[in-house]
Order: sequence, then structure tokens, then C-alpha cells
Amino acid sequence: MRLVLLGPPGAGKGTQAAILSEKLGVPHISTGDLFRANIGEGTPLGVEAKEYIDAGRLVPTELTARMVEARLNEPDAAEGFLLDGFPRTVEQASILEDLLSKQGVSLDGVLNFQVDEDVVVERMLARGREDDNEETIRTRLGVYREETAPLIDHYGDAIINIDAVGEVDEVNGRAMDALSALPR
Ligand code: ADP
Repeated sequence: MRLVLLGPPGAGKGTQAAILSEKLGVPHISTGDLFRANIGEGTPLGVEAKEYIDAGRLVPTELTARMVEARLNEPDAAEGFLLDGFPRTVEQASILEDLLSKQGVSLDGVLNFQVDEDVVVERMLARGREDDNEETIRTRLGVYREETAPLIDHYGDAIINIDAVGEVDEVNGRAMDALSALPR
């Protein structure tokens, strides 16, 4: 199954993706995790990405897309994936479409995790990642509203809305139910 996960920062996409990845047997590909791994290893990509991430801004698309393309070309992603954090703009969505059409495949759906802004701010402050301070969170929410939320219209009928407020297991149950209703 080839799925994109959408939702504001702090919606719990990463947590849900880890569980879904296990249950569906497809890799969880998180651009945030890939960037953080590169930062940890001090790669040139990590060094460049870090200044954007620390500011709560998007890493330039060219850099991000190159990283995603390399990851999607790894053998474990051949039969499916959960893409978390990409695309984040309409431009990135068309890059993804091109990448997939080169492989002769397409997305099965786009899970949109829905949660109110006050809940996501609370969650992010509680998780305390390095880029989770109030100012960065505000910037990221602004970027989400302006650049990422338009993807909901862009994907149209492919969007599967999931109420992301509740316990982890509860939200996962909703996602699994929604996915089992997909034509296969
Ligand atoms: P969150 O879901 O809380 O926003 P992520 O781990 O998905 O956290 O992303 C952390 C940061 O990594 C983002 O704020 C952004 O700077 C960068 N990033 C992740 N994905 C992308 C992307 N597709 N394009 C540009 N920058 C990205």
C-alpha cells in the first residue's frame, strides 16, 4: 500500500505511522526522521537542513526531494510505503507524482490526520524536541496553513480524513478501519 500521511505538526502522524507500518508491513518514511538522522551524523545534507529546521521553516524542496527519491528507490519501498512529511507543498506533490509515475505506480490514498491547533501546540510542547519551542511551533503552524493545508484540496477524493484526537490506539483503530474500506 502506498500512502501519504498529512496533518499539522504535532498531529501524531509519526506515532501513528510507526504502528501502521508494522501492521501493514510497509516502511515508514519520515522526512523529519531522515533529516534528524543526517543532522546526527553530521552529513552535508544534515548541516544544510539544520538551519531551516531550527527556524521552523521548510528545507529547500530540491534538497528534500533528492533525499526522498533516494529513499523511495530503496528495495524495501518497492511494494509500498507510508510517506510522512512529504509532500508538504503542492510543488512537492507534483514531484512525488512524477517520481511514482516513473516507477509506474500511484498512491492508494492520503490519510489526513485532523486535530485542532491548540491540541497540537500542547502536544509539541510536551514532547520537547529541539525544534519544539513556542516560536518555532508558531512558524511551523503558519507554514502548515499556507503551504501544506492546500494539499487537502489538491488530493481531493484521495483524502481519507481521520479524527486524530484521542488515545493512540483509538486513532489507530480509526485509521485501520478507514484503510480496510479502500478498494484493493
Ligand atoms: P512535524 O511533523 O512536527 O512538523 P517533522 O519531523 O515532520 O515534524 O519535520 C521537522 C522539520 O523538518 C520541519 O519543520 C521542516 O523544517 C523539515 N521538513 C520535513 N519535511 C519537509 C519537507 N517535505 N519539505 C521541507 N522541509 C521539511
